Amino acid sequence: MSDQGIATVFEPQPRWPVIGHERVISYLARAIQRGHVHHAYLLTGPAGIGRTTLAYAFAQALLCEAVPEMRPCGRCRSCDRVLRRVHPDVTRVSLEQGREEAKLLSIDQIRELRASLALRPLEGAWRIAIVDDAERLSRDAADALLKTLEEPPPYAVLLLIAEDLQSMPETIRSRCHVLTLNPLPLTLVQQVLQESGIAPERAVRLARATRGRIAEALRMASDNAALTRREKQVAEVLAALNEPLAALGFARRLAEQYRRGRRAVVEDTLRLAVELWRDALWLAADLNAPIVYEEARAALQELARRKGLAGTARGLRATLQALADLEVNVQARLALDVAAMTWSEGNS
Ligand SMILES: [Zn+2]
Repeated sequence: MSDQGIATVFEPQPRWPVIGHERVISYLARAIQRGHVHHAYLLTGPAGIGRTTLAYAFAQALLCEAVPEMRPCGRCRSCDRVLRRVHPDVTRVSLEQGREEAKLLSIDQIRELRASLALRPLEGAWRIAIVDDAERLSRDAADALLKTLEEPPPYAVLLLIAEDLQSMPETIRSRCHVLTLNPLPLTLVQQVLQESGIAPERAVRLARATRGRIAEALRMASDNAALTRREKQVAEVLAALNEPLAALGFARRLAEQYRRGRRAVVEDTLRLAVELWRDALWLAADLNAPIVYEEARAALQELARRKGLAGTARGLRATLQALADLEVNVQARLALDVAAMTWSEGNS
């Protein structure tokens, strides 16, 4: 194949109803064609990049009635039912009431899933269980899931979905085949949005605001307020990085949100701060470097100039540390205060 770019886009199963993620798709398609399907996969990557869509597409490919090379055909009865999420051999558990309120997947949810996997497939050759938010298993739920992972029925395929590997218990992780999904190139997200009828200027803003998380971009596209909220959030975080007084107040507000159980919001905000620090670090090394938050270039250049290379690196490290601390449940307010104080140090 002479043109590598074209090869990666068109060689793997073009019928998978998934945007991007060609490498993982071609790996899974090969597994089906060669009959080497594992019993458990762990799909990791940030929320909103299409992990669940990919899991359902894989379920479609497994259950499709066409010859292996043509799966998923997208036309047979199985494909149709998986796509509409009503196939009797595919079950899914997830945090029901949105990511912010529900805290953990319960033992009852995993018990139900185990009961469903204990039955032979009704129609196809496989029974498939999708576990969304797998990093949020309660201890009991994790133990119950582990039993299935240790001795899966021969026809079972488990698809666990989590943000990252570190958040998964080693016992579970080690029994899964790990597949890492990365955000898509912004230009691809922009192109897909435009093809779905969104004006070019808005497509650019959505692609940037979601940083290549295609599912999130499509969701935001149908929610007018969401994009504005996101851009406001970027402005707020940027102000906190730039102004010492703003930083501490900002940290306190985040700690308060965390206390009220809005953990996902706090972590999302810190991830945003990480990305802005990373941009600032690039700019501290080279004022003309390409960055993610192009629209905030002037403010980030100012930050980079004032902090210098060492200062921006410290800000980035402190923010990553705060994220890690929250994950192991260090007192939230303390973790956030320490980060905020590092952000504002060296300002005068
Ligand atoms: Zn089919």
